[in-house]
Amino acid sequence: MSSQNNVTVIGGGIIGLACAWELAKDGASVIVVETGGSSYGTSLANAGWISPSHIIPFAAPGMVQTGFKNLIGRTGAFAMTPGAGPLLAPWTLKFARSCTDAHVDHCAPALKELLDTSMDVIEGLTETTDLKRTNQPQWYVYTSDNAEADAEHEVDLVTKYGVDAKQLDLATSLEQEPILKDTVKAVVEFSTDFGLDPGKLVEVYRRNCEAIGVTFRSENVTGMSSTSRNVTVVTTTDSWICDYVVLAAGVWSRELAKSVGENLPIMPAKGQSVTLPGVTNSPSRTLMLADQRIATNPLDWGFRMSTGFALTSPSDMSVNSKATEKLINTARQALHLPEKFEVKNELAGLRPASPDGMPYIGALPKAPRVIAATGHGMLGLMMGPGTGKFVSDLIAGRPVSRDVLKFSPARPRL
Ligand SMILES: Cc1cc2nc3c(=O)[nH]c(=O)nc-3n(C[C@H](O)[C@H](O)[C@H](O)COP(=O)(O)OP(=O)(O)OC[C@H]3O[C@@H](n4cnc5c(N)ncnc54)[C@H](O)[C@@H]3O)c2cc1C
Repeated sequence: MSSQNNVTVIGGGIIGLACAWELAKDGASVIVVETGGSSYGTSLANAGWISPSHIIPFAAPGMVQTGFKNLIGRTGAFAMTPGAGPLLAPWTLKFARSCTDAHVDHCAPALKELLDTSMDVIEGLTETTDLKRTNQPQWYVYTSDNAEADAEHEVDLVTKYGVDAKQLDLATSLEQEPILKDTVKAVVEFSTDFGLDPGKLVEVYRRNCEAIGVTFRSENVTGMSSTSRNVTVVTTTDSWICDYVVLAAGVWSRELAKSVGENLPIMPAKGQSVTLPGVTNSPSRTLMLADQRIATNPLDWGFRMSTGFALTSPSDMSVNSKATEKLINTARQALHLPEKFEVKNELAGLRPASPDGMPYIGALPKAPRVIAATGHGMLGLMMGPGTGKFVSDLIAGRPVSRDVLKFSPARPRL
């Protein structure tokens, strides 16, 4: 079955582009509207991790304690700012209530299906385009006095859900990756996880979209109105009618959803990345500095490190150079890095975080022709390709699994 629909995708980040490409391949006539201002901010700033092992939702047992530990310890990895506004209290409460084993058991199969679908698409893209990936499996490295126990706990937790993770021999690991200092006391390998350049993935999707006839409009969408038959999209300069809208505007989806009477509790969770050229002993894989909460990725053009999860406002896009310095200095606890860097390629991004750690993929109950594709939080890059597939299935009316329906925005939100 193919879709002959006219579809407008709001947002040209990774999620919007992945949806646009799948819909166009399906036969739909597709417009992507992208405001351009903060264009691709989050989708470019991220760590570039593709981790099919991440089937446990962010809202999981232990996360509340970890958050408080970070707040009190002032590591800067987790923070709340006054800009987070009135959504902060209900969002945090729902998040805390979701951190149960039952919630993890409910979500894990759905997240697995989404991630597996993404993996198939990414594999196809690496075979058919110039997109490259790291070939060595991802490592988590631990430096605290509790390193051994923490590593063991991580392995126990994820292997319970079928993830292939194991602790490695420390001496061999340090030899294999000379960037690691001997402050590292334990290493866990995730065999399925790898990294790629997020900017390249966005570029490949954009190229593929253009090649298949997707139209790009550089405009700011101010609202939508919806009937049972179509949706009107309103921008600062124009308006038009289409059969469906895909709402993929990242953290700004919340404001746009209000125009059709929906309250999507998406909280901006700010993070920063820095990409350093001249790291001569760059590793051959993605590394998680588990105690420093820093994700790293050896890109072709520099060594990327990212951190931070500050609940904030959708307008908080500034890059904080002090935070970059802190990130680099904190990473030195586990990594040998050069003394000075001339260029730092700093970027900030706002993760669109839902309070239950699951993205919203599906029709909005009050506007069934508006299909939400947002709320992917920390995992939007790796879930984008699968989201595109699911959205095109939903619009073409193809059957989807019961697990995919768990992403429906019709679920209890707060
Ligand atoms: C520091 C950091 C590290 C991360 N690491 C990873 C990682 O390793 N792996 C991973 O999978 N994920 C990671 N993430 C998360 C991932 O980057 C996000 O989940 C993902 O980029 C969200 O994509 P998106 O398309 O929903 O949003 P965005 O990339 O924000 O795109 C939304 C787009 O909509 C546009 N827009 C907004 N409002 C309007 C409007 N009114 N009209 C028109 N256009 C509009 C915006 O300009 C923007 O380009 C990380 C995030 C951060 C910040």
